[in-house]
Amino acid sequence: MSLGQTATYRQETNNKMTEWFDQAACKGLDSEVFFPEIPTGDTRRFHWLQAKQYCDQCPVTKECLAFQLAFEDKTGRREGYWGNMTPKEREQYSRSNANNRRG
Ligand code: SF4
Repeated sequence: MSLGQTATYRQETNNKMTEWFDQAACKGLDSEVFFPEIPTGDTRRFHWLQAKQYCDQCPVTKECLAFQLAFEDKTGRREGYWGNMTPKEREQYSRSNANNRRG
């Protein structure tokens, strides 16, 4: 799945997530904030900081994070800013949870 396909998936899935997505702070925003076209360096950091401003005030962060972690477990794709975490932060979070389950 390409980045564009992931963005489309997000858009389509968002349309089905009415129960919690109706309350999302990012509802209706340009997905470029959460899926920067140039996903490296300062540009990416700028977008993550912008996205974080929305996630910090979002009432459904837990639901969003759980949704995206399930998606990433299923597809192995980790892209975009979801649940107030960067892809790298979610990877670390998932690893930590897996270690805690084993430990
Ligand atoms: S936590 Fe962030 S990405 Fe998830 S729904 Fe809320 S504002 Fe959007």
